[in-house]
Amino acid sequence: MHDDKKSVLLVAMPFAGIMIPSIQLPVLEGYCRERGITIETCHLYLKAAELYGLQNYHYLIYPPNDSYTAQMVFSRYVFPDHWKNNKDKFQEFFHQHSVQNSDTPQFSFDEYVHQTDVFYQWILDHVDWRFFDIIGFTLNYGQLLPSLSIAKKIKESDPEKKIVFGGSRTVETLGMNVLRAFEYVDFIVSGDGEDALFRLASDFENYKSIPQLMYKNRDEVIWNKSDIVVDLNMIPIPSYDQFYQDLSTTSVDVQQYYQYYGRLPVEISRGCWWNQCTFCNLNIQHRCYREKRISRILQEIQWLSERYHMMNFQLIGNTLPKTEYRTLFKKLKNLGRDYSFFAEARAGQLTSDDYLLMKEAGFTMIQTGIESFSQNYLQKMNKGVRVIDNIAVLKFCKENGIKNNYNLLVRYPNEETIDFNETKKIVQMLKGYLDVPQLCELRVMHGSCIQRHPEQFNIERLEHTLIDRIMYPLEFLKEEISFVYDFNRKIPSTDNPWESLVEEWKKERKMFELEGITRQTTIDRLVFYFVDGGSFIKIFDKRDKQNIRIVVLNELERAVFLACVDVVSLQQLLHRFTNLPEFELIAMLQSFEQNGLMFVEDDYYLCLPLRFSVSEHTAIRTECQLNVSV
Ligand code: SF4
Repeated sequence: MHDDKKSVLLVAMPFAGIMIPSIQLPVLEGYCRERGITIETCHLYLKAAELYGLQNYHYLIYPPNDSYTAQMVFSRYVFPDHWKNNKDKFQEFFHQHSVQNSDTPQFSFDEYVHQTDVFYQWILDHVDWRFFDIIGFTLNYGQLLPSLSIAKKIKESDPEKKIVFGGSRTVETLGMNVLRAFEYVDFIVSGDGEDALFRLASDFENYKSIPQLMYKNRDEVIWNKSDIVVDLNMIPIPSYDQFYQDLSTTSVDVQQYYQYYGRLPVEISRGCWWNQCTFCNLNIQHRCYREKRISRILQEIQWLSERYHMMNFQLIGNTLPKTEYRTLFKKLKNLGRDYSFFAEARAGQLTSDDYLLMKEAGFTMIQTGIESFSQNYLQKMNKGVRVIDNIAVLKFCKENGIKNNYNLLVRYPNEETIDFNETKKIVQMLKGYLDVPQLCELRVMHGSCIQRHPEQFNIERLEHTLIDRIMYPLEFLKEEISFVYDFNRKIPSTDNPWESLVEEWKKERKMFELEGITRQTTIDRLVFYFVDGGSFIKIFDKRDKQNIRIVVLNELERAVFLACVDVVSLQQLLHRFTNLPEFELIAMLQSFEQNGLMFVEDDYYLCLPLRFSVSEHTAIRTECQLNVSV
């Protein structure tokens, strides 16, 4: 059996970003190598960034453009006739839909096509497939056409090579359809790839019995569906040696970019313990939620830092650990290193103290799944959080100088005017002092609840997107290989002016930030905050410049106000202030609310101003950081 082992080359194509190495490649590499498989990896997106030019590459993949459309030119290698017959449409799409930034040099369609050719040819000239039996491609959002283009070429020159695809772009029925549509793809792994790839390489003859594997049996596509999942603690710590090796052969600007902005990924979990948001398809690959042990996460961070002299990490997981996040923060803090972390998080979980701890642990940036400030909209999304939870997160982040890169998700098929109006009302309260979201238009993703049950979301029918209709011949689209869909509404909805709402917010923040630069004292740069005098509280509210207010709360009001620093229910407050008659407490809370100092949702309360502590200078730090970025 030993002699029958097959060697493996794993490839990650563009249009992956270069700020974070592909984690799939080293994870699979480590797992298979530890078990005696000859395996190499190839991070080809780095070379693509060099050959397109770093600025052009970023222009293609980052908003307002994206990596899904960036792959379009690879259609010419996968469907050469289709390209020939439709080149004008590709060009027209590029001109009409790719938004050029004023601060980057113009990148023409001809250059785009030419550089794609240069890159494609570079791969054919430099990557030596001959030494490997199995060539595996990891596929995310924008990697299908680039991977197909190379897989096709390999198979043409050597039909004996086995082509394997895996990743979110080819899971479950989508994977089966891709396997059916492209004869040069031999296998697809749906779900955890580690064991399936190892078994394919070590026991190829018995591939029909490998769990998670899809294969062809004459005209049939078979999927060995399985619930088996890998224990994340048993995977070796991923080695990024090959990534750094590939990086060292790219241009100086790509290397420098990574040295400045790069982060190493550290996987903390797979799947999502909530897994109910109606727009989300992030868990189709990992339906079962699993976490890595905190001790193992720490070991991994320290090992990676020592080996690659890296201080910046991205925790890979859809959320923070479900229950042990506090342990994670404490242990990271206790390491006493200047690490910085980025992580994705959910609202409604952590308290203000947790955010303080988070900051002390080194979290400088997070992305919270805020999505909306409308209760009605959040219910359609089935986010499982309230508006009050979302506001609390943004307040805590601001107090602690943690940048929150959050989105407002809009244009659901069943969006209503109330969704906009509710949001608008909240934005009036927040726009003077809390950070602005990015606007994100809903895309119906394969595997999401909306895609599976369109009729529940006011969708008459799902349609192929314009870019898919351009990139793929119709006969391939009919095989249902699309990852993203457009939709037709049953009942037309009004087009709410989300863009102008967010633009106005942006303008307001910018104005406050610019003004802040001219202020002599740091505290004067804050817009809406309170200071605690022990027996009283002083609140400074400069959100409305025509009506700047200073509110002083007495001792009792202070106590109630401070009890609402975190989201708290009326019941909890009544329990805490037993000496205070209920009507008095309610009247006090109402007066806070009427004065714009408190947010109330269904008998839950949250005070709005930022806490400013002179000794910690926490809120101030945020404003200073923003000033620097202006
Ligand atoms: S959006 Fe985030 S929280 Fe919601 S299901 Fe997806 S991963 Fe989970």
